[in-house]
Amino acid sequence: AAFLSIQEGCDKFCSFCVVPYTRGAEFSRPVAAVLAEARRLAAAGAQEITLLGQNVNAYHGAAADGGTWGLGRLLRAVAEIEGITRLRYTTSHPRDMDDELIAVHGDEPKVMPYLHLPVQSGSDRVLAAMNRQHSADDYLRIVERLRLARPDIALSSDFIVGFPGETDADFAATLRLVTEVGYAQAYSFKYSPRPGTPAAVEADQVPEEVKTERLAALQQLLGAQATAFNRACVGKTLPVLLERPGRKAGQLVGRSPYMQSVHVPVSAVGQGRLTGALLDVAIEGATANSLSGRLAMAEDLVAEDPLAEDLLAEDGRPSEGATAAVSPPAEGGPARAPEQAPTSARISA
Ligand code: SF4
Repeated sequence: AAFLSIQEGCDKFCSFCVVPYTRGAEFSRPVAAVLAEARRLAAAGAQEITLLGQNVNAYHGAAADGGTWGLGRLLRAVAEIEGITRLRYTTSHPRDMDDELIAVHGDEPKVMPYLHLPVQSGSDRVLAAMNRQHSADDYLRIVERLRLARPDIALSSDFIVGFPGETDADFAATLRLVTEVGYAQAYSFKYSPRPGTPAAVEADQVPEEVKTERLAALQQLLGAQATAFNRACVGKTLPVLLERPGRKAGQLVGRSPYMQSVHVPVSAVGQGRLTGALLDVAIEGATANSLSGRLAMAEDLVAEDPLAEDLLAEDGRPSEGATAAVSPPAEGGPARAPEQAPTSARISA
């Protein structure tokens, strides 16, 4: 898996964010430069590429024909590169989820069914004070269209609690939005003033103890949704891109299409040979943060290839009834997965 920066800076000026001041105006790399780097990454063995930007879906790169490409068109072009099997992008702003980008989730299978789409708050009053330039309902309609295009899409978001002026009613609106969306994972924070931003000098800062209470309530709800989403995967078989050794000996960790970390037992030989492989895993366990399972390698493959036997852990044989079929979680089900991108890219949009 590899990251490819396609866009930097931001013109949105959310009232809590330093990016427009520290990183400057939005800049998109030309299409040809992005495609050339994607080809290099693929040639070096990257199967999965995550396109990065502080406000990545504001991408508007200059193309060779003199036109300008948005992120949807760029994703389609990267998907055509030989060797690329999975595509992701982060971090997105709801206002930049245009028709073409939503459509690509529905008709380009290499675009993974997972999207980090920060909403920050469910209160229109707070969203306006944050200068997010959309309402809670606008966000819900985007989620609806994404799920129409790709019914199994898993969603994640950032939330800020205790933004200046946030009332109990505003916070209740955030909990309602979370309940309505059903997140697979999320990142939630107490508001903390960033020097030089408009919100930092607002008079009605929320007391620390109120922020703490609200954050605990929000995280309890988000944690329950993440656990439910992950549990819904138990008993299914998911394609997992095995990326690195796990914390425990004899274990590899990879990613499901829904950005869940998946822990898989393998032999010492398997640890070396299977890193970088995209394999079906029969999911057997789930927590709020990750999944565990066994390679769903067919018994006959092991029988035909003695080396395949060597790749499995003693207790890592295919589970009874495991198949190679891929079954996504139930539609609209909520997942949790660790961060998928460097913090500098993830915290934006
Ligand atoms: S939060 Fe995101 S969209 Fe808003 S100003 Fe910062 S980088 Fe831009």
